[in-house]
Amino acid sequence: MIVYNFSAGPAVLPKEVLQKAQAEFLNYAGSEMSVMELSHRSSLYDQIIKEAEHLLRELMAIPDNYHVLFLQGGASLQFSIIPLNLAQGKKALYINTGAWSKKAISAAEQVPGVEVEVIATSEDQNFTYVPEVTVDQIDQEAAYVHITTNETIGGVTYDKLPQTGEVPLVADMSSNILANDFKVTDFGLIYAGAQKNLGPSGVTLVIIRDDLLNKEPIFAPMLDFALQAKNRSLYNTPPTYAIYIMKLVLEWVKAQGGVQGMIEKDQAKAQLLYQAIDRSKLFSNPVAINNRSITNIPFVTGDEKLDQLFNKEALVAGFQNLKGHRSVGGMRASLYNAFPYEGVEALVDFMQAFEQKYG
Ligand code: PMP
Repeated sequence: MIVYNFSAGPAVLPKEVLQKAQAEFLNYAGSEMSVMELSHRSSLYDQIIKEAEHLLRELMAIPDNYHVLFLQGGASLQFSIIPLNLAQGKKALYINTGAWSKKAISAAEQVPGVEVEVIATSEDQNFTYVPEVTVDQIDQEAAYVHITTNETIGGVTYDKLPQTGEVPLVADMSSNILANDFKVTDFGLIYAGAQKNLGPSGVTLVIIRDDLLNKEPIFAPMLDFALQAKNRSLYNTPPTYAIYIMKLVLEWVKAQGGVQGMIEKDQAKAQLLYQAIDRSKLFSNPVAINNRSITNIPFVTGDEKLDQLFNKEALVAGFQNLKGHRSVGGMRASLYNAFPYEGVEALVDFMQAFEQKYG
């Protein structure tokens, strides 16, 4: 049976990447060792981590005044250490667009010495749109404005970035990195857990502009961006294998036509599914058209029992991980870069058959 993996993360990886990793698994580049067994200080591993950084710089057009860091602790640790590094004694501004923004806000509120202010929220309409923010709402003395470019649970995304004046924009890009055409130079800091569009879990990407590196040391060296940057992510042992798989994913993205190539494919997949939802009398998606995510698409029937039945039958038919997040229920199709177009076609056929039967 063909299985399609709609997981929100860890998510589907390109088959070619897994095959390459398999082929190199026992004997990497003639070393008679697995990448997993290489010292992170060896020249072979040095080539891997440098190439991962090089490819990312090329694909995202990251200028030299930005550092690329491969860290651990997931995007969730960034929720705490970004305010810790960037906002000591300052205000940190947040735009609240849903579940992941909320987690970032709540973590920042717990960091001593940081004052958090939520400057806009879409909570009034259950987080189904991105609120408008104008530059006069931004305290120009603030450390940063934090946004979540794509809300993985709500399926909400920014169609244009907020104007923040001189205040740097900090973005959680976990679920749409390499699937949007925002310019890196419009941000002071971008971060993303890898397990959606970049590779396996275990490595977290941070792209930080040079002038935002902390000037004073942070009490815990591992949480200190300046120290991590100075050591090129090799202050301690990095997640070596996860970075290696990320490198293979980045090679694959490049071969697929780069970020632009990915966006075109992602848009085609998303359009197919949104059209099916919008034409259907049974399924619906509540998000404002301009803010609909192309990577995470939630939908419901409006009847919890029917949603459960849908998820049960979908599973039997080979559609894995379609169940919506436990906090919201319903269904959610995560269509990251590695997800095949045929999988969406198959899902749409399945939805139509389901609607005929039960709608
Ligand atoms: N931010 C967003 C937008 C996410 O989707 C997730 C994970 N689903 C996280 C943060 C948390 O990431 P992690 O599990 O890597 O801490």
